[in-house]
Amino acid sequence: MTLFANAVESIQIGVEDLLKNDDRRVLSAVRNVHAGVLLLCKEKLRRLSPDDEILLAQRFEPQPNDQGDVSIEGVGRNTVGVEDIKKRFKSFHVALDWKRFDAMADIRHHMEHSYFKGSRERARQAVADALLVIRQLLVEALQEDPLSALGPECWTALLENADLFEVELKSCRMTLEEVDWDTAAAARALPDFACPSCHSALIRQRDPDNKSRQNVVLICSACGEEAELGPVLSLAFDETFGIETHIAVKDGGEPPISTCPECSEETYVVEEARCAACDFELPGDAQCAVCGNGLSTEEYYEHDGLCSYHAYVASKDD
Ligand SMILES: [Zn+2]
Ligand SMILES: [Zn+2]
Ligand SMILES: [Zn+2]
Repeated sequence: MTLFANAVESIQIGVEDLLKNDDRRVLSAVRNVHAGVLLLCKEKLRRLSPDDEILLAQRFEPQPNDQGDVSIEGVGRNTVGVEDIKKRFKSFHVALDWKRFDAMADIRHHMEHSYFKGSRERARQAVADALLVIRQLLVEALQEDPLSALGPECWTALLENADLFEVELKSCRMTLEEVDWDTAAAARALPDFACPSCHSALIRQRDPDNKSRQNVVLICSACGEEAELGPVLSLAFDETFGIETHIAVKDGGEPPISTCPECSEETYVVEEARCAACDFELPGDAQCAVCGNGLSTEEYYEHDGLCSYHAYVASKDD
């Protein structure tokens, strides 16, 4: 069987698993669809290779050839892994929504490594993410028509699944929309809200009518676990501000989010000088009682209104 046929078959089997009304098959649905997507990536690398499938090899080295020249040949039997697929796609200018790809892989990882093996909702989300990646791979990267490549049954099921997931997601998100979040950062991170236990995006307010941040109790529609706002925000901020944090750290600047001294979550919003998860706030006029210098969050909280230097001096006087 060709690599392409293998990829198609794996996706079709995964979709059949999902359609079966059998909870024992949801993990297998996610596994098969994920495997199929990886195979589609490899098919693209195969087509990009001159005639020797060299881009599928994990490692290659220069070797002398019969003509007395040097040729590059694959060594070992391992095929290319995800990190190298990403690098090679980038080098060869093949665009792919890696965020979706990673989200799908993350769900698979979670389902395989947690006690909770996952529900139909988790599988639904993974397959909904997969749909967009599959469409991009088939249409843009491989110039194949999804309907004829996957067959009408499989393609329609993929589209319907994505619609169903969207409806569920919308109804969960609606319970969060009216809350007064107190920080712009929390409002901005809403699209990245996910369950800390199973990473499903289907997280909603237990009381859909509550509007106060202090009273928010979250519950996951996928695994049924309750979640506190702190861990949910901390996880969401990681996504929302990940790139900005990365750049700030690289340039030696201050990251947009830091640890809250009060609740210890990664939810202190530097620009807004307050925590998005609890009531901790740095007063605008926070300054050292001795020298009048402005105080950092840590100084304000830990040194009782003194800057680090005068806190040190005071501790020596004792
Ligand atoms: Zn959950
Ligand atoms: Zn806090
Ligand atoms: Zn001072």
